[in-house]
Amino acid sequence: MSRRQFNWNGMRVPYITQWTAETVDQPKIIRIFARGGEGIGYEDEHSVTDRRDEALWVRSGLGQGRGRPDFARISSPRQKRAIRYSLCQVCGKAVLNCRDDERTLHLLGGSTPIAEGETTAAPPLHPLCAVESVENCRFLQRGWAAALVEYSPLWGVAGVVYDPVTLDPLPSPGRRPNDLTHVHIGDELIRWTLANFTAVSLHGVTPVSPEELHAMASEDARRAVTGGQRMGTA
Ligand SMILES: [Zn+2]
Repeated sequence: MSRRQFNWNGMRVPYITQWTAETVDQPKIIRIFARGGEGIGYEDEHSVTDRRDEALWVRSGLGQGRGRPDFARISSPRQKRAIRYSLCQVCGKAVLNCRDDERTLHLLGGSTPIAEGETTAAPPLHPLCAVESVENCRFLQRGWAAALVEYSPLWGVAGVVYDPVTLDPLPSPGRRPNDLTHVHIGDELIRWTLANFTAVSLHGVTPVSPEELHAMASEDARRAVTGGQRMGTA
């Protein structure tokens, strides 16, 4: 997948933002009886692409940069890739090895501080990219919380849980704005979940204040400049 940067109306489009060309029709959700028991599925389900970790996955196309960016939606394949390889959700480049202590920066919507063990589908990001998000993203303008995190193991999925009796989608009990329901990989509800994203849990959490975030971003910018000069003279 390309990590080219795309701009829209003079603004950088985050790596994980979904583009309109990537929207595909979602098949009808049906009840299925498969090995392991009952759950939701698609009539024309493909075991390789539609199901992972026992959950049914939304279908999505790939066409980053095609159509227009839909800032309210996140690309499922790029979110998964960003979580798996610790890529910045804004620029799509690796965030590991950016700090001597190897902690990663996380930024979540809502002003509640990030809790130890909190689960999230938001990939990490660079301090400079985080400041850019806080300034440009209208969802974050209603409040945000940042933290440095020591480790973030795979925890489960973020998606929509369907009622096992009525097959109606159930409302999310999420603690942050726009949160989908987070379902642990070992939870029996996973079979009734239409997964959009991979979720991780955050451990070794140290909150980062707005002042600290700006200081980290300045340090980031300074390093980028000296790094650039070094490359220029090589
Ligand atoms: Zn970045």
